[in-house]
Amino acid sequence: MTATTPMMQQYQQIKKQYPEAILFFRLGDFYEMFGPDAELASRELEIVLTSREAGNNVRIPMCGVPYHAAEGYIARLIEKGYRVAICEQVEDPRTAKGIVKREVIRVVTPGTVLNEQVLPEKQNNYLVALVKDAMNWGLAVADVSTGEFLVTEFSSQDGRERLLDELARLQPAEFLLAAEIAADDWLLPQIKKLLHKPLVVTSFNQEEINQTVSLEVLGEQFGPAGVEKVLNHGLSTAPLAAAALLRYLRETQKAKLTHLNQIEVYFTANHLVLDGATLRNLELTRNLRDGSRRGTVLGVLDHTITAMGGRLLKRWLEQPLLQVKAIQERLDAVEELVNNFFLREDLRDLLKPVYDLERLLGRLAYGTANARDLIALKQSLSVVPRVKQILQPVKTTRLQELRKRLDALEDVVQLIGAAIVDEPPVSVREGGIIKEGYHSEVDQLRRASRDGKQWLAGLEARERERTGIKSLKVGFNKVFGYYIEVTNPNLGLVPSDYQRKQTLANAERFLTPELKEYEAMILGAEERVVQLEYDLFVQVRDQVGAQTERIQQTAYCLAELDVLASLAEVAGRNRYVKPKVDTGDRLHIIQGRHPVVEEMLMGERFVPNDAYLDGQDNRLLIITGPNMGGKSTFMRQVALIVLLAQVGSFVPAESAQIGIVDRIFTRVGAADDLATGQSTFMVEMSETRVITTQATRRSLVILDELGRGTATWDGMAIAQAVIEHLYHRIGCKCLVSTHYHELADLENHLPGVKNLSVAVKEKGQDIIFLRRVVPGRADKSYGIYVAKLAGLPSEIVQRAAQLLAELESKREVAATQEKPGQQLSLVDVFAEMGARLSPEEHYVLEKLRRIDLLNTTPLQALNLLFELQNTLKDKK
Ligand code: ATP
Repeated sequence: MTATTPMMQQYQQIKKQYPEAILFFRLGDFYEMFGPDAELASRELEIVLTSREAGNNVRIPMCGVPYHAAEGYIARLIEKGYRVAICEQVEDPRTAKGIVKREVIRVVTPGTVLNEQVLPEKQNNYLVALVKDAMNWGLAVADVSTGEFLVTEFSSQDGRERLLDELARLQPAEFLLAAEIAADDWLLPQIKKLLHKPLVVTSFNQEEINQTVSLEVLGEQFGPAGVEKVLNHGLSTAPLAAAALLRYLRETQKAKLTHLNQIEVYFTANHLVLDGATLRNLELTRNLRDGSRRGTVLGVLDHTITAMGGRLLKRWLEQPLLQVKAIQERLDAVEELVNNFFLREDLRDLLKPVYDLERLLGRLAYGTANARDLIALKQSLSVVPRVKQILQPVKTTRLQELRKRLDALEDVVQLIGAAIVDEPPVSVREGGIIKEGYHSEVDQLRRASRDGKQWLAGLEARERERTGIKSLKVGFNKVFGYYIEVTNPNLGLVPSDYQRKQTLANAERFLTPELKEYEAMILGAEERVVQLEYDLFVQVRDQVGAQTERIQQTAYCLAELDVLASLAEVAGRNRYVKPKVDTGDRLHIIQGRHPVVEEMLMGERFVPNDAYLDGQDNRLLIITGPNMGGKSTFMRQVALIVLLAQVGSFVPAESAQIGIVDRIFTRVGAADDLATGQSTFMVEMSETRVITTQATRRSLVILDELGRGTATWDGMAIAQAVIEHLYHRIGCKCLVSTHYHELADLENHLPGVKNLSVAVKEKGQDIIFLRRVVPGRADKSYGIYVAKLAGLPSEIVQRAAQLLAELESKREVAATQEKPGQQLSLVDVFAEMGARLSPEEHYVLEKLRRIDLLNTTPLQALNLLFELQNTLKDKK
């Protein structure tokens, strides 16, 4: 469209600068949208599409929303993944010459939104920037609603998977990607796959940001200490990502963002890593059914009182610790709160009036905090002295530290208390905010307006008496101000000092010089006081804003206290115990329970089970047993107990000794991933690849049904090969459940393998699930029985039973023919096929086969020989 009207020209100029956003163009009391923006917004928001003359008889599509209801509409667009540029009138239309000046004051995007309608209370909202060079991926992460800013790096060789895992955890609402990354047609679909929300990407030219520029940008935001932190960690690409992110924030937010004042450097390897599949499979924070919190570990664990505590607990759960000391400190603190019921109750009670201080600080930095926010801040901080007091006798290190770091910010509380009324209005532009006694001019002006109004209140009675007109009225309207109204029949009684102002059909309106004087006084005072109150409010807000760092620290301490008390609360309610955590190899759980399943069981009792793994003779457990027997539950509960222990939580068991693990891997069930063109089996194999290439001796691996998506023998062969690899090459702790009962034979070949099974009792045609995990193997899956339980038509069930009987008898005959007197298992077959070579011997042969002799120096050859010989020696 080419516009000719001056206003539409102004619109087009502004729109040109924000091609990727929907432009909300302020026109009086409305935000209007034009052209394609209008078409899109009317569709998405279900509002009426009209049109407007743009000049030269051209009409363009238009739709609009009232300015006071805009928040809700913007929220809906953001949730759908759009960006909205808000364009305001930046001069007073009454005094403007020609077209009113307009500017975009902020671009709201999914990663920078502050609206509480969009932001889930107990979740962070991350905006991330990603850059890459030959060596590393650099990732910068910001939550502008709470003020967090973090950076990290991943090596470009093997860090891609880790980067994806981290993105799966962060669930960013928005991405800034260096152009080269945005064009990567492998990475983008992977990212899309792991997100539970629309993928919103802005790309930027990485060449515009070099090391020097980036450090300058970081210095401006975080000061020299921030730059030093980044340099001390020897980061190369993370500063570039951080600078790109800050630049984007400046361009779109047009605010100082003083709450982003700390840059944190972190490395995922310093936490127990949970890859995307594991996060999903263990249903830590989202359930597999509908993605909600119901039936998740977080759902069971989260008894936090504050939103900040809720967010912190989620982060703790997704980032368990690796250092015994830090875990122990949390565990000790939880223990003190478990044992001291009254302290816990008092603490949780005190936290009730605490608002979301982190997000409140976000609004403060954006200049959008209102007087109610300041009152909320005051109320929240007012609990701190009492919290410090009740924590006085605490004995554990972490609680003592938190107590010490809590700052009651008396100066801030006092300032707000003195300046702001206790129940201020939502708007900061209509007065009624500043407390009596805070500022003498405000008091004076209010007095003047009050006196004037009092004078006015008596005026009607006085004038009625003076004139003898009983129906005389004093009124006010916006155009004419105050007036005295006399109906036509009484006009003869009007005194001479009345000046006519307005004629109506059956009355006349008058003023008197005195009325005019009072009117000027009242209206002048009101106008002045509203402006003065606003100015004073902004001063107070800025003074409070200057204490952001102190408030952040207190906010964090309250959040952590909330989390520790919540963990203690769950431990108390659900009878959890304090685990022993050390760096040893042993994982010993006595009478462990699944934290979620035990809560979900209705009427039935959860049957606790033991688990023992030690990295030696018990390093790989193969679990067989009937469908529905409880295998998956058992394996997951082992993983979750380890995870909870490393979070610093008590665990659902009678006792637990946990040797710290570096990663937990799970491979569970099967799911097609048609979006990225992977079949069920392909997904299964890709996940298995991740495990076999990334697990270490200190990892815990859960394989729930491996090799099920292909032909039985292929599946079984793969399952056995994977198990052997994990056993020989990695030596991790591993739990495998399977319906390939042949795999249980591995116990005879590999000394660290132990068979477990879930017990059932046969009762006539029925079976009873005992849910007890016992040593030894199972030889049946009772699949047909479970099919019957599920209500499969009886003719199908009967036919299946008949077929099973036939298959079993054929198999027995075949086995006796091949080796009279003995059933041939798959393991035996493979052992024969492999001429009884050990996996080490296989490895050596394979390595020899692959040597490229023409490109091997004598020294390399010697080194290789040394390595091969050592491999065989180790075996010995
Ligand atoms: P399949 O081989 O068919 O996948 P499974 O052996 O893995 O089955 P689970 O999924 O672990 O079986 O358990 C099935 C159901 O049994 C669970 O949903 C739960 O309701 C119940 N259950 C499992 N373990 C226990 C237990 N220890 N105590 C009580 N109920 C349990």
